[in-house]
Amino acid sequence: VIQLYGPLNFFGTYYRMIQQTYVDMENMFDLLDVEREIKDIPNAVDLEAKEGLVEFDHVCFHYTEEKPILDNVTFTVKPGNTLALVGHSGAGKSTIVRLLFRFYDIQGGCIRIDGKDISEVTQTSLRKTIGVVPQDTVLFNTDIRTNIRFGRVDADDIEVENAAQAADIHQRIIQFPDGYDTVVGERGLKLSGGEKQRVAIARTILKTPQIVLLDEATSALDTQTERNIQQSLSKVCSNRTTIIVAHRLSTIIHADEILVVDEGKIIERGRHEELLAAEGRYADMWMQQLQKAEEEEDGSPIEKLK
Ligand code: ATP
Repeated sequence: VIQLYGPLNFFGTYYRMIQQTYVDMENMFDLLDVEREIKDIPNAVDLEAKEGLVEFDHVCFHYTEEKPILDNVTFTVKPGNTLALVGHSGAGKSTIVRLLFRFYDIQGGCIRIDGKDISEVTQTSLRKTIGVVPQDTVLFNTDIRTNIRFGRVDADDIEVENAAQAADIHQRIIQFPDGYDTVVGERGLKLSGGEKQRVAIARTILKTPQIVLLDEATSALDTQTERNIQQSLSKVCSNRTTIIVAHRLSTIIHADEILVVDEGKIIERGRHEELLAAEGRYADMWMQQLQKAEEEEDGSPIEKLK
């Protein structure tokens, strides 16, 4: 019993980890042959998302019955547009993203991609459609080449290197002791936060999804790294439907629509300028971040000299 229980328990933990962090590891499910908690319906079809239109239609959701999480969430992201989700911690932003992956089934409303209800399509095809650049990229204890290839397991070495080039990490990799064969992760070479993000970007480039999800890191990287990452990200996101869970409002001023989420409800929506003019919650958040940035600048002797 113990022998059986061990690995099952391991996969269970692993599954929950994926659910929580929506690590973009669809292929890992197939490789490990993990049983999914959410089942495909008997006659599920493959999702053919050519456009990348995302619709949340009066979505209601709870993890446990005592605590409703999302209350009638409705929004549309047109193909190629960018939607940003903002709001304080625990507001429900990550939940919205997890639901798009169908890590959980909803209790009310409908989620559609290109007009197709996502509960009626195969999960494999659904997750192929969506690429993720998570807050914290998980690296496996294997070589960097394989780590990037998780984006699309049948990619050849040239494709992996091209993706690494586009994500601006190729030059760094060839400096590693064994280049692309260098083992990374917990028991190998440790990569910095910015480098790990580039691995995630490279994976997403390999995957060429119709929809991209960006979960912005809460802790800021240094300004230069941040700028470089933004550049690589804009390559991944151009012409793709993009949903950003944003923590720094400066990165979303060009978003086509910003949703302010509070206690599972959308309390404000619009473009950056519109929301500033509305002088509501978003405008408050913006002022707070400006103030914080100014304080930080004041605190820095180098900035003062400029
Ligand atoms: P953050 O900015 O901190 O990531 P968030 O806006 O993304 O926050 P969510 O992670 O979506 O917020 O969480 C929304 C609510 O759902 C929170 O109250 C959280 O405690 C709850 N929650 C999240 N995951 C679970 C879970 N697996 N089971 C039960 N409750 C959960």
